[in-house]
Amino acid sequence: MKKTGFVLSVLLFAGFGAMAQQEDPAEMKPQMTEIWDPEVRLVTPGKTPQDAPSDAIILFDGIDLESEWTSADGSKPGWKVEDGCITVVKGAGTIKTKRVFEDFQLHIEWRSPEEVTGKSQGRGNSGVFLQERYEVQVLDSYDNRTYRNGQAGSIYKQHAPLVNVTKEPGKWQTYDIIYTAPRFNDDGSYFTPPVITVLHNGVLVQNHSKVRGPTVFIGIPEYHVKPHGPGSIVLQDHGNPVSFKNIWIREL
Ligand code: MG
Repeated sequence: MKKTGFVLSVLLFAGFGAMAQQEDPAEMKPQMTEIWDPEVRLVTPGKTPQDAPSDAIILFDGIDLESEWTSADGSKPGWKVEDGCITVVKGAGTIKTKRVFEDFQLHIEWRSPEEVTGKSQGRGNSGVFLQERYEVQVLDSYDNRTYRNGQAGSIYKQHAPLVNVTKEPGKWQTYDIIYTAPRFNDDGSYFTPPVITVLHNGVLVQNHSKVRGPTVFIGIPEYHVKPHGPGSIVLQDHGNPVSFKNIWIREL
């Protein structure tokens, strides 16, 4: 929804409220508050909540990586495709979707290496960047302390997850991410900030979390640069062989 659309919606809603207030409740009929058209669009759900519904874009089907993904420089992605999943190859760099997105619902499954090496941020680290800027952290946070706003399910260095529901290393895990892109003022600041909700293995870990600015490793994230448009989904190469599969997205 654009800024003007948002303002219009607020005015319409306020107008409806004022109109309803003028009606004598005793005079109102149930039908007066029933909205029939347009009919809600039909979507066929997947067999399970993990399976893509009929209106999803399949970003990785277990076989074909190159149709939807490139390396950051636009070349072919250098990650390993094997056994129905993709795995980070250290040094191959991040990969990103060719398509760009605004508001969406994203499903992605990930697995940290069964063989545990390293600790804290050095163990099973990757990440899902929304619009190329805002990182939902992927980390092996099973019996692995690190700073709370940098563990699995965090919005990296901005919001800790509400709980830690990380499975054992080597087990597949799910993220379901609902993302509302920022809208901008003319001076480049956020009119509304990015908002992120995350379910980790079906459990709510980010509840409508407002983002301060693009993810940074050092310093306080603040948005004070120029507005950005739609962006790719980016998966991070942090040097650990983290795997991903069953990636689909619904544009909202
Ligand atoms: Mg990361």
